[in-house]
Amino acid sequence: MCGIVGYIGSKNATDILVDGLRKLEYRGYDSSGIAVFDNDKIEVRKQKGRLDDLEFFMTEAGRPCGTCGIGHTRWATHGEPSNENSHPHSVGMVTIVHNGIIDNYIQIKEKMIKNGYEFKSETDTETVAALLDFLYDGDEISTISKAVEEIRGSYALGIVFKNKPNTIYSIRKDSPLIVGLGDDENFIASDIPAILKHTKKYYLMEENEIAIIKRSGVLVVDLKGNTIKKEVFEATWDIEAAEKGGYHHFMIKEINEEPRALIDTLNPIIKNDLPFLSENGLTDEKLCGFSKVYIVGCGTAMHAGLIGKYAIEKLVRVSVDVCIASEF
Ligand code: GLU
Repeated sequence: MCGIVGYIGSKNATDILVDGLRKLEYRGYDSSGIAVFDNDKIEVRKQKGRLDDLEFFMTEAGRPCGTCGIGHTRWATHGEPSNENSHPHSVGMVTIVHNGIIDNYIQIKEKMIKNGYEFKSETDTETVAALLDFLYDGDEISTISKAVEEIRGSYALGIVFKNKPNTIYSIRKDSPLIVGLGDDENFIASDIPAILKHTKKYYLMEENEIAIIKRSGVLVVDLKGNTIKKEVFEATWDIEAAEKGGYHHFMIKEINEEPRALIDTLNPIIKNDLPFLSENGLTDEKLCGFSKVYIVGCGTAMHAGLIGKYAIEKLVRVSVDVCIASEF
C-alpha cells in the first residue's frame, strides 16, 4: 500500500505528480508511474524501481506534457514488481491508479475474460480497470458506483476517463486518500506531504464518497450521486513536520500508527467479528490439520512472533517455531 497523487490545474502535471510522489517515498515502493492527458490523449509512463528510474525512462520515452494527471508508487501485492505490473493501468475508456488489495479479483477477472477482456498484467488492479470499462454507461458516477458494488477489498482509486480530459475521479475504502483544494488547481493524494507545497487546505475522504475533481473546483457525492457537504481542513504543519504526520520523529509516528495499521491489515479478512481466511484457501478443516506452525520475521516482527508462539501453543496446543527470516 503506497502512494497516489493526482493533479489538475494550469501547471505541468508531470512535474507536480513526480514531485508529489517523492513526498510519499517514506511509505516505501517498488515501482512508479504516471498518466497525463497530453493534447487530450492519455500518455502513460511507468517503470519498475525508484522514481529516478521513471525520470530516466521519460528522458527516452518522452515526458508527457499536460495539466491533468494521476500518479502512483506501487508496493506489489499481486504480481512481481515489473514494468507491466506497475500502475497506471489502462483498459478501454479507463485509466486508474490503485492502492490496496481487491479480494475478489479472481472472480472479476474470470467474468471479464468471459466478456472478451485480455489482461496485460498480473495485478488485481487491472481487473478493476476492466470492470469500470465494462460497466461504463456514459455516466461516470453511476459507472464507479456499480463497480464498487462488485468489488470487495481495500482501495484508494484515482480514475480518469478517456473522454473526460478535464476531470479526475476518486474513491476510497480502507486505504487513505485526501483531496487537496488549491487556487485554480486541485489534487488527490494518499497523504498531506504530497500537496503541502501547493495548498494546506484539504478534504478527508470518507468511505465510498466519490470526489469529482476539476481545475475550478471539487464536488463530492455519494454512490447515488447526491452531493455531500464536506468540511475543509487546514494543515497547520510545515512540510518537514507533515512528513512526520505532526510527530516529533518517524519512530514515534510509526508507533502511533500501529493501531491504524492493524485495523487496515485485518479489516479485509474479518467477517462477523472473526478472521475469515477461507477465501485465501485457509479453510477451518485445513487449519485443524496443521501439526506445526512456523512464524517467520525479522527484528521486531520476529520478537512479536515469539508472543504469537506463546499464544498459539497455549491456546491451540500446536507446536510453533519462530525463525529469523534471513536464516529461514
Ligand atoms: N494490489 C495492487 C498491486 O499489486 C496495488 C498495490 C499498492 O497498493 O501499491 O498492483
